[in-house]
Amino acid sequence: MQGLDFPLFKTKSDEGKKFDLSDPAGRREYFECKAGDEINKLRDYLRSGNTFIAYLMGKKSSGKGTYAKMLAEIIDKEKIAHFSIGDMIRSFDEVIKDPAQRAEIEEFLKANYRGFLDLDAIMKSWDNRSTKTLLPTELILTLAKREIAKLGKKAIFLDGFPRDLDQISYALFFRDLINYRDDPDLFILIDVPTTVIDERVKFRVICPVCQNSRSLKLLATKEVEYDKTENKFYLICDNSACPSVQAGKKERMVTKEGDEQGIAPIKERLDKDEMLMKEAYKLQGIPKVLLRNSIPADKTKDITDDYEITPEYVYNFDEKTGKVETIEKAWEVKDDEGTVCNSLMPPPVVVSLIKQLVKVLGI
Ligand SMILES: [Zn+2]
Repeated sequence: MQGLDFPLFKTKSDEGKKFDLSDPAGRREYFECKAGDEINKLRDYLRSGNTFIAYLMGKKSSGKGTYAKMLAEIIDKEKIAHFSIGDMIRSFDEVIKDPAQRAEIEEFLKANYRGFLDLDAIMKSWDNRSTKTLLPTELILTLAKREIAKLGKKAIFLDGFPRDLDQISYALFFRDLINYRDDPDLFILIDVPTTVIDERVKFRVICPVCQNSRSLKLLATKEVEYDKTENKFYLICDNSACPSVQAGKKERMVTKEGDEQGIAPIKERLDKDEMLMKEAYKLQGIPKVLLRNSIPADKTKDITDDYEITPEYVYNFDEKTGKVETIEKAWEVKDDEGTVCNSLMPPPVVVSLIKQLVKVLGI
């Protein structure tokens, strides 16, 4: 990101062993090799009853949820929760359509909400709101406190808060608010080049039957089909739980409407996310973990192993055999400063996260 200095993190190992990062067992071996000691420390820390709260900040589609969930999978799913404010609000959007559940929420808010708007006005704006209007911060905090209490005592990765300038200062007192007052808290800032987000959106494809999500360019399935009339390549869904796959049908994965426009429709949101990150970067007195998704291409060989770099898939149709050949190469993108970069797969970013967490928490 322009103007912010996120350090490069070395994950290259001397042994030169290769791991299959697409497979859960392969990922476990990988993490054991790259951060075994730190994983044990973090696990012991959480299992002895300690918790912490981390504010995840990064642009929309920067992988916040992916990193937090992968960390939980590696350390201990029972001790780490990824809590998304956006998901919470979306779930309440449904809940308030049900009269009984709506009454219960109103009852709760009557007893617990403090703020400038009266409850009727809030419920009315909630009913009429578009996805772009934000609910009052005081309301979000009241609801988040209630939902987080239901999780039990866990380390929390809070996603989607702060989402506005005024919420940054609220975040500094958030742990007191949810009764985590003596627990360490920290910010996790994720830097992902805009071009990476753009291409992730543009090449995203989903299975129309099972909604399995892949990428024509960045995450191919095993089988690819070529359509002569359209002169287009299609990934074939390979999700074993997909009804089409189970019926032996070749289900083509397709682009969701609007995705072909890339980041254009969410540009405003991305700019705001960037502005918030820059503010959070300046904060004093609260530890920060800095994660970067991209590495200048001329430094990649020195600090990462080949398989840690996101590949790009290119397809070639062989007229003679009628088969599609898939060619894999390192994906190159320009970052926000115009430097040619490679993009890291999620596991090496999580290795960096684990090591920085252990340091910040002093364990
Ligand atoms: Zn499917």
